[in-house]
Amino acid sequence: MSASSTPGRLTVITGPSGVGKGTLVARLLQRHPRIWLSVSATTRAPRSGEQEGRSYFFLSRDVFEAQVAAGGLLEWAEFAGNFYGTPRSPVEQHLAQGQPVLLEIELEGARQVRRSFPAAYQVFIEPPSFEELQRRIRGRGTDSEEAIVRRLERARVELQAAPEFDARLVNGDLDEALGRLELLMGFA
Ligand code: 5GP
Repeated sequence: MSASSTPGRLTVITGPSGVGKGTLVARLLQRHPRIWLSVSATTRAPRSGEQEGRSYFFLSRDVFEAQVAAGGLLEWAEFAGNFYGTPRSPVEQHLAQGQPVLLEIELEGARQVRRSFPAAYQVFIEPPSFEELQRRIRGRGTDSEEAIVRRLERARVELQAAPEFDARLVNGDLDEALGRLELLMGFA
């Protein structure tokens, strides 16, 4: 399938944990409801307030692995001790219908999508500084110290991959970042 035409374009948003991808994406969707955001599968436990089928599909490892084996995931990766992946068929269906499709995923997944959908537009979200990223991850207050340390270690690796992406966007001021993202995606 070609994902190169503008209406059914596939956009991938990546960036280290805590960089504010989720907030940025939520604001983007509020302003552009025709964008369809993929709901990922994960083996991570739900955080408080997260809803099955809206935030994620929360799966056991066995079920996740069965989906991988059946080719049901467009991409998947292990992140901070849990599996995350993008269910394939809803993405393909929405693209076929000509809808803009957005994936908010980590680095390894973005690299897999780059191979399977070379026409996808890949945006990397960067923090203003590593110290600010650390402050945001700790301030979220949802993860154990062990999970925080793993996420920070991973963030250092992910930040080095920024030059691989079609565009880089510093998320300092949210409104400014949102405006730039809209421009990059052709929604401004
Ligand atoms: P969190 O546990 O904070 O919700 O997500 C951890 C990381 O997993 C984030 O960087 C997020 O973008 C990424 N992620 C979420 N869904 C997927 C997915 O379907 N595939 C991949 N590869 N990463 C994902």
